[in-house]
Amino acid sequence: MSSCTHSGFQPLFLLAALASACGEGALESGSSADDADGAFLFGETGGDGTGGSGLDLEQDALTFGDPGGTGATGHDTGDGGDTPPGPPETDFDGGAGGSTPPPVTDPDAALPPPPDPDAAAPPPPPPDPLADCPRIRVVNTGGIGLNVRPDPSTNGAPLGNLPDGSVANVLAIVQGQDVDGNATWYEVERGGLRGFVAGTWAQCIGPAMPGERDDVFLLPFGCGESFVVTQGNNSPFSHNGRGAWAYDFSMGLGTPMRSVKPGTVVHAYAGTQPGHPCYDGGGPECINDANYVVVAHPDGSQTLYAHLNAVHVGVGAEISQGQHIGDSGSTGWSTGPHAHVERQEACGRAFCNSIPMGFADVPGDGMPVEGQTVTSENGCGG
Ligand SMILES: [Zn+2]
Repeated sequence: MSSCTHSGFQPLFLLAALASACGEGALESGSSADDADGAFLFGETGGDGTGGSGLDLEQDALTFGDPGGTGATGHDTGDGGDTPPGPPETDFDGGAGGSTPPPVTDPDAALPPPPDPDAAAPPPPPPDPLADCPRIRVVNTGGIGLNVRPDPSTNGAPLGNLPDGSVANVLAIVQGQDVDGNATWYEVERGGLRGFVAGTWAQCIGPAMPGERDDVFLLPFGCGESFVVTQGNNSPFSHNGRGAWAYDFSMGLGTPMRSVKPGTVVHAYAGTQPGHPCYDGGGPECINDANYVVVAHPDGSQTLYAHLNAVHVGVGAEISQGQHIGDSGSTGWSTGPHAHVERQEACGRAFCNSIPMGFADVPGDGMPVEGQTVTSENGCGG
């Protein structure tokens, strides 16, 4: 089986042959960068092989959304709102001044003014302009990153640079120089670097997840959950060639899959639905039918989550570490319910060469081996 190393671009018929021989391979349909046709090979070790069928129909509805927002809303033109509005002007002293008696035709003229239920209430707290934008992620700079400036304009020399995809805490939202039609600037802080960045290349994202440790990889399932690794890295069964650095975790159908790091969804496929012959697993004929999500991370790598029954995020969604991105299944070439997770180089496609990934919540070098039970700290409260 050690000869089962193949990768790259090869004719589909050859790949199919290799796949049949080796159980897994690196496949691209070669037609385009679009994943919808995603030729995809995962011959996999399932868990106990009890690919229950007909389960969890309610979990299979596709829900594509973008919880990250567009970053273009809710910006307060104020500078932090440190002058809360005073109590509303309550001027209903009709007749208190006494100089202009009300018209006699007013039936209420002789009555005292009705009590204003809000008159005695404290003024409402000023809206927090950062409530919808506690952090920003640098987007779409084409790899050159986003300069951090001493003031909200491009005049001052940059104090530093935030890489594409990186995240910074927002200290204030201000108006400054108009850059490509956007005058919003964010005062941000990241790792001791503090200054202003242009909103044109910053997308608002939510607060950090509890216990988020976004500089490390955490296991792709929920806090405190334990699962067995049924195939580790460099396994002759199917983790070789392009996908050598992959993990299979045995888990029941419908287990929430969680992102190992923050990032952006760059590929997603959910075309295999109940009733499809490859929905409950299958052989090599199902190599192109696994549902999956791929998340790109600020460090330049991406992670793939495959054999999903349900996909809960759409391409472009900004997600946090620990965010629920889909539910495990047995779609595609799979011998039973499990999750296949691997880290890859980013190559512009959903299936790139895999690279090592160690989890901070796995003892030792962080790289679990076949038969090892691992327990996730992903999303655990700090
Ligand atoms: Zn696998």
